[in-house]
Amino acid sequence: MKASEATNYYFQKAAKELHMQTQLERILMLPKREVKVECVVELDNGEVASFRGFRVQHDASRGPMKGGLRFHPEVDFDEVNSLASLMTWKTAVVNIPYGGAKGGVSCDPNKLSHQELQRITRAFIDEIHDLIGPQLDIPAPDMGTNAQTMAWIVDQYSKYHGWTPAVVTGKPLELGGSEGREAATGQGVFYAIEALMNDEQKNLADLSFAIQGFGNVGSFVARFIHEAGGKVVAISDANGALLNQMGIDIHALMLHYQATGSLAEFAGAAPLERDMLLTIECDVLIPAALGGVLTGENCKDIRAHYIIEAANGPTTPEADEHFRKAGKILLPDIFVNAGGVVVSYFEWVQNIQQFRWRLDRVNTELKAAMLDAYRELRAITKQSDCDFRTAAFQLAITRVASATALRGLETDSFCMIKT
Ligand code: GLU
Repeated sequence: MKASEATNYYFQKAAKELHMQTQLERILMLPKREVKVECVVELDNGEVASFRGFRVQHDASRGPMKGGLRFHPEVDFDEVNSLASLMTWKTAVVNIPYGGAKGGVSCDPNKLSHQELQRITRAFIDEIHDLIGPQLDIPAPDMGTNAQTMAWIVDQYSKYHGWTPAVVTGKPLELGGSEGREAATGQGVFYAIEALMNDEQKNLADLSFAIQGFGNVGSFVARFIHEAGGKVVAISDANGALLNQMGIDIHALMLHYQATGSLAEFAGAAPLERDMLLTIECDVLIPAALGGVLTGENCKDIRAHYIIEAANGPTTPEADEHFRKAGKILLPDIFVNAGGVVVSYFEWVQNIQQFRWRLDRVNTELKAAMLDAYRELRAITKQSDCDFRTAAFQLAITRVASATALRGLETDSFCMIKT
C-alpha cells in the first residue's frame, strides 16, 4: 500500500465516524497545491546533475502551512503528499495555528558533499521561493536535512526577499533558531509516553523499551527514557541493532556513536539482527525511523503492548487493525511526534517578536502542549469508545473543518466533537 493510501484510509475512517459530507471530505483530503521542480546543479567533479524537488501544500485553513523538507532517495509525490496531509492533522491535534505542507528533494545526502548539498538546497529555493514565506509556508528539517540546510535556505530566500529568518524553523541558534528545537521531537515523544504511563498507572522505571532508529528522534527519546530510569533493551540504526535485556547505558552508547559513527562493536550490548528489534520481548515499542515498518506481515509477531509512533506513518492500516483487535495501545504519529513542530512554532513566534526564550520556557510550554493534547485525545477515546489514532484524526479533522467553515465554506453541521 502506498503511503498516501494509508494516510487517506485513516482520514476517511475518522471522517466517516464524524458523518462528514463527501464534498467536504474531498476538500480536506486533497492537497491545495503540488509543486515539482528540477534542481540543476554542478557536482564537485564538474558534471551537471539534476534532482527532482517537491513541495506539497496541503491545507491553510488554520494558518500558514508548515512542514519539513526531506532529502532522501525515495522522496516522491506520493510520500510527500501523505506527509503533507499528516502535517495538517498534526498541527491541528496540538492546536498550533498552522496548516500542513511537506517537501523534499530526491537525492542521497550520504553520497553528496557538503558543497553539493548546499548547491542543491539553493537551487531548490531558487525554484520555490515565491511559494514559501513566514505567512505562507514555513519549511523545517526532516529526514536528511538539518540546521545547516535551514541556514542555507534563510540565506538564499533572503537574497530575494530581504532578511527573513522566520521563513524556516529548525535554524542554528546564531541565525534565530530556538533553544530546545533539536531535541524537541524526542522530548515531545517522551512527554507523550509520560502522559500515557501516568494514566495507565505505570512507572517508567518498571518498563522495557525497544527503539527503532538512533537518529535525531530515536537518540533523544532513548536518552530521555534512560535518564528517567526506563530500561532501553534494544535500539537500532540503518545498519544494525543492539540488545541488552538488563538495559543499555544510553549515555555510553552516545559517546561510542559520536566516536565511531556506528552502533557496531558497542561493548555494553550484544549485536542483534536489525529487523529483529521490532519483535523482541519488551513493554513499549517505539518506531522512530522510516514509515511503513509495521505491516500485515510482521504485526502478529509484535510482542510489545504499547506502540508509540515516533516516526511518521510507521504502521500500515492492516497492522493498525490487528493491534486494535489484539488490545494493544498505540499512540499515533500525528500526536506523538508533534513536539518538533510545536517548538518550530515557538521558534517562529520568537522570530516574529524578535525576543528569545530560555530553554526552560520552551520545555515547559512544550510539555503543556503535549499534555493538553493527550487529555483531549483521552477524553475522545472514552466518549467515542475508539482508539487513539481515530481520536486524533477526529479531533484534527473537526478543528480543520471548523476553520474551513468559519472562513466561508458553507456546509451543514459536521462538528461532532466540541473543541
Ligand atoms: N519534520 C518535522 C515533522 O515531521 C517537523 C516539521 C516542522 O517543524 O515544521 O513534524
